Amino acid sequence: MSQMPRATVLTGNIADNWRTLDALHPGATTAAVVKADAYGLGAMRVARALRIAGCQTFFVAYAEEGLIVRKAAGKAARIFVLNGPVRSEMATYRDADLTAVLSSEAHVKLWGTAPKGSCALHFDTGMNRLGLPMDMSEKDLAALRRLQPVLIMSHLACADDPENPANTAQRKAFNEISDAFPDTPASLANSNGCYLGKGFAYDLTRPGLALYGGTTPPEKVKLKPGVILEASILATFSGQTGTKVGYGGTHTLPEDRILATCALGYADGIPRAGANQITGWLEGNPCPVLGRISMDLITLDVTDCVKHAKPGARVEFLGENAKLEVQAAACGTLGYELLTGLGPRVQRVYR
Ligand SMILES: *Cc1c(COP(=O)(O)O)cnc(C)c1O
Repeated sequence: MSQMPRATVLTGNIADNWRTLDALHPGATTAAVVKADAYGLGAMRVARALRIAGCQTFFVAYAEEGLIVRKAAGKAARIFVLNGPVRSEMATYRDADLTAVLSSEAHVKLWGTAPKGSCALHFDTGMNRLGLPMDMSEKDLAALRRLQPVLIMSHLACADDPENPANTAQRKAFNEISDAFPDTPASLANSNGCYLGKGFAYDLTRPGLALYGGTTPPEKVKLKPGVILEASILATFSGQTGTKVGYGGTHTLPEDRILATCALGYADGIPRAGANQITGWLEGNPCPVLGRISMDLITLDVTDCVKHAKPGARVEFLGENAKLEVQAAACGTLGYELLTGLGPRVQRVYR
């Protein structure tokens, strides 16, 4: 068996997470955000699994990503392209039946002259990132209505903080927009928005990270891990009290310990900020990382589970035990960045 790090993508769990999120808002459609190669886990396989589970609406960032999802999810799927179109892509949008998300005046102008495909309108209700402005004249709104958008949407800036007043402020602003498009379905919620209650779901929710097992949902929402990341133990050795571990000798053993060196490093997407912070799990036992993370290697303290620590044994760095958000926090980052940062050397297998 290969010694290389392995990411086992659990498409069944991802489909279960989609069903769990879908059940939160029975009146609304639940889409799936599969941009950035389904957050690094493989858009082709993930979209296919979600399509089989019943998901018919997908969001990607680029038209190129949309083509992959079209192949995976079939002719009937609705595929929204969040970053919007440029002129050279018009034929792609038409031929692959991609839905352009228009978020600027330039997009709107371009779409007005384009061969007709479906479009959505993205308004900026307070994130100040992407989106059409709120302060539109009735004339401008009428022109937008003539584009016959299939969806109006906006994006929450602070949904991970349920108490933040920005959430209700954005909802209020979005209500004004949706009042101006009374016959058009509306969408505001990303994953964390799905946890904010019924008033945020509108007609369609757009979870991404939660599908892959990320976010910190409320107690009643049980998500499953979307991926198991494992690395092989290459060698074990005894370290005497006072021994310094790794580059820079940033960890000094306070007592005699058994160490194991694993084949995983920052080239595989484990941030260096996780030095002396993250935990690998060996047969259900937590093994703290000692010292810095190297490009290809990471050192664990396996003293408490030494009988399992054999060369070739697999250590879990993401999965049932090694929770995505806990590992990400230990590296000073978020589940989003940890998942999308998994390196090309990590072998993806699908289960
Ligand atoms: C990425 C993205 C989402 C999904 O966000 P998650 O936090 O991963 O659920 C939804 N909507 C828009 C506009 C996005 O860019």
